[in-house]
Amino acid sequence: SKTPPKIHIFLPRLVAALEEVDETYIMVKPDGVQRGLVGEVISRFEKKGFKLTGLKLFQCPRDLAEEHYKDLKAKPFFPKLIKYITSGPVVCMAWEGVGVVASARKLIGATDPLQAEPGTIRGDLAVQTGRNVVHGSDSPENGKREIGKAFDALLRYYHLLNLSDMITNLALWFKEGEICEWTPAVAQWLRE
Ligand code: ADP
Repeated sequence: SKTPPKIHIFLPRLVAALEEVDETYIMVKPDGVQRGLVGEVISRFEKKGFKLTGLKLFQCPRDLAEEHYKDLKAKPFFPKLIKYITSGPVVCMAWEGVGVVASARKLIGATDPLQAEPGTIRGDLAVQTGRNVVHGSDSPENGKREIGKAFDALLRYYHLLNLSDMITNLALWFKEGEICEWTPAVAQWLRE
């Protein structure tokens, strides 16, 4: 007899997915790690009031870098981009909060750091597109795809139904158990 799948562990993530709680994947790229900017980047999101739900230092393998940036495959800079992202450890982060995807893009600033406004991460800390310190998901859908774990419960059932081919791209940077559900003690001081 088969043990029924224990989906209760993943229910908060499923609820988050269904309620469309915004989450975004933020990554300090290898230049940011090498330049000692990890704390600075984390600090800007913490101070803004978003909630950190995942954090790790990670050496990105080539196939993951290519999957993450697959929409840019045809660009002339794609090989250099893959080399850059895999050239040293990155810091992977998941941040949650209403409107976090668009707000994070504003905090990060324009892709070209020379065009990025002062006060943004790239505007303050970088000078070149090919070394722009940080990544942030460009849409809520990509936030879910890059963090992925919102789909844990669904993944289980897709596997059971032998539909796993359909869902292989749904979890890029975090594995089961790496996303943490918690309630910040200051929550009532951030939202009325
Ligand atoms: P963003 O990171 O702001 O969402 P894109 O999705 O357009 O920007 O590009 C992804 C990443 O690819 C950029 O952050 C940058 O590291 C790299 N990139 C984009 N355009 C160029 C370019 N013209 N030359 C070198 N690298 C680039």
